[in-house]
Amino acid sequence: MSIEPKLLEIRKIARERGKYVMGKLFDDYLTGYFDKIRIPSCSFCGAEENLTKEHIIPKWVFESNPKTSFKSDVNQLDQSYIKATIPLCGKCNSELFNAIEREVQKIISEVDLKKRYYSPEEWLIIIRWLEIIDFKFQVWDLRTDFKRHKKAEFIPFLSIFSIAFMRDGSVRTVTTKARMARKRIATKDKTKNISSLIVGTTKNKSFNYFHTSNEFIFLEIPLHNKCFFYFYHREFKSDTQAKRAAMKIIKSAFSDDKSENPTT
Ligand SMILES: [Zn+2]
Repeated sequence: MSIEPKLLEIRKIARERGKYVMGKLFDDYLTGYFDKIRIPSCSFCGAEENLTKEHIIPKWVFESNPKTSFKSDVNQLDQSYIKATIPLCGKCNSELFNAIEREVQKIISEVDLKKRYYSPEEWLIIIRWLEIIDFKFQVWDLRTDFKRHKKAEFIPFLSIFSIAFMRDGSVRTVTTKARMARKRIATKDKTKNISSLIVGTTKNKSFNYFHTSNEFIFLEIPLHNKCFFYFYHREFKSDTQAKRAAMKIIKSAFSDDKSENPTT
């Protein structure tokens, strides 16, 4: 079955429910009263029934390994991928996001880069998938309490702020970034973004991931020997130019990693 109807529905919900869902999210975690009772709802369509937990990074990507974790760039605390979830209603989770998930998994596992390259349709589905991950990550950042910095004293006052707010320190920046992530999902035409995705093969045996919300994402999937780098809004004149920009970031992220200062 074609994935097109699912993509169309995702764009439609992103467009039609965006204002309500983002407004509620900001009111619950950023601008409203901190002690109010929050009514749980789907982070994508806003439905309040039949809620499920959606992993930000799908389990098959990190092979359901509970030991894989990322450090938040804001408080440097370890967070396991298996626990990094956001609420989605059953429909958005199993019928929509999961359909993309299955399609991407199929594409990634089946395409042998030595024999053939991705088709334009496959390429676009990977882009959409990576854009959804950014959106999910931003929702998670908004919904997650800052707690405290690894190297700092506990300050109870700060613990109520979200990771997203502590990162940017401005309500406006947080809301603009989250709205942009949502808007990317709602946008049909991705021709400008085609050169912003770089795909390669990897022999690395461990799962690697880093991401700066609204900027870029790097995913290395050892299970299928592939790695992906995607710039969320930078446009490039050629693939070579994009590759050069990505390599620069990858190199700096891995050298930072050794000095215990990873980017996530
Ligand atoms: Zn939903």
